[in-house]
Formats: sequence, structure tokens, C-alpha cells
Amino acid sequence: MKKRIFLVINIIIIYIISSITVMGENNVDFYSRDNPYYVLVNKQNALGKEYKPKDLMIPNVRFLEKGVLEKKFMQRTAASHLETMFNSAAKDNIHLVALSGYRSYQRQNTIYNSNLKKYGQAYTDSVSAKPGHSEHQTGLAMDISAKSAGYSLTQRFGLTKEGKWLADNAHHYGYIIRYQKGKEHITGYTYEPWHIRYVGKELASYLYINKLTLEEAEPYFIQAELIQKNTNKSTMPDEVNNQKEDTEEMSSSMQQITSSIFLDERAKSVDSQ
Ligand SMILES: [Zn+2]
Repeated sequence: MKKRIFLVINIIIIYIISSITVMGENNVDFYSRDNPYYVLVNKQNALGKEYKPKDLMIPNVRFLEKGVLEKKFMQRTAASHLETMFNSAAKDNIHLVALSGYRSYQRQNTIYNSNLKKYGQAYTDSVSAKPGHSEHQTGLAMDISAKSAGYSLTQRFGLTKEGKWLADNAHHYGYIIRYQKGKEHITGYTYEPWHIRYVGKELASYLYINKLTLEEAEPYFIQAELIQKNTNKSTMPDEVNNQKEDTEEMSSSMQQITSSIFLDERAKSVDSQ
């Protein structure tokens, strides 16, 4: 009998410890810079050749082109929030059209090399990202336009009611306008009102409210990590500290980020960045 009570108590203790661990892990995922939705891909940071998002799907939104095309895919979470955003926009009589989402390393490589043959190095580097450096490879970005902008990827889109709606509301659905006006020296890109990137609602709102771009998200991470640290301290400090070390190690391999040279690119009607 004593043995049985001891066993039951043990099971309860294990259950409590494991649920605290799971809670801790969720916090790490949600707030930490290791969250896969925070991945930074730009002219300095590239994804590996082998990186392909696991759960790609075609969002149920209006696309400019028909058929099953690679560029229609997005990561599942991003796709689902894109659908919600398009539906909410439609209720405001704003009709958005999706043009281009996921792009594989291989496809970017083909685009880049085809431009290289036709136009030479200097021009190619001004219009297309080197393979691995395109944010479209994350499956978290989508290029958007509307009828009023001739369904093209043009800075004029930012002046249309659809472009304005997108800039003012995207953060409610976890998206940011990735390449903003006035941030060219930070992002390395000219203004692209059409290119949105999923980062999750919390970070998107933080960046929108503080008028920051993804390269400037550091204060958010510091703040979030402090909140997380304080929350965890009151529960199980040792366990959480170990987890933090684990996730720090994980982040470098998970994001598959490598350093690379700086490129100069400009916005254009066909987004091959
Ligand atoms: Zn784009």
C-alpha cells in the first residue's frame, strides 16, 4: 500500500515537472529570437541551400495567376493568417491579390544565373538577390498588389487605398511591410510596399507601433527575454537556464544563417529579390 502511494506521488511530481517544462518551452518558442518566424534573411544573412520550410501550402486567397505554382506556397501559419487578412480586407471593400510567395533556393539560383548571362554582374546584383538571400525562401513572405496598381509590384501600390490598408492593418495578422520608406540604409532595399513578411502578431505590432523594421527588433527581444526570465525565475530557475542554453545552441543551426557579401538591389516591377 505504501509502495502504491509512493508511486502515485512520484507520477504526480513527474507530471508537474513535465508540465512546467512544457510551459517553459512554449515561452522560449514564443518570445525568444529563436522563434522560427523571426528568422532574419537579408543581404548579410542567408539561408542554406538545403533550407526548405516543412509545412508549405497554398493559401486560399485570390492569386493573379492560375494553377499550382511554387510561388503560391507559404508556411502553414503564415498562409492561414494571410487568408484571415484577405477576408478582413474584403469586408472593408479592399481587394488584395497575391502574386509571389515561396521561392526555392534552386529557383532563385536559376533566376540569378539567367540574369547574369543576359545582363552581367552589376545589373544582376541590382535587380535580383543572390541564392539564399531571398526572403521568399523562408515561405513567410508574399508579394501583394491590387487592380488599382495594375496588379504589378510597383511603389505606386503604396499610394492606393489597398496599399494603405495593408500598411495600416498587416500587423493585426502578424505581417510587416518588410522594406519601408526611410529604412533603405538599414534593410538594404528600396521601398517595397508590396512585400509583406510574417513574423507573428506580437513582433509585428511592436515593429509597427515603434516604426521599426526587422533588423531593428533587438529591443523587442531584450524586453521579451527579460519578461521571460522574470516569469521563469519564479518557477524553476535551473531548468529554464538549461533550456535557454539549449535553445541558444539550437538557434545557430536552426536558422542556417551564414555571412555573405553586401549586395545592392533596387525595387522593380518584377520582384526577383
Ligand atoms: Zn517580395
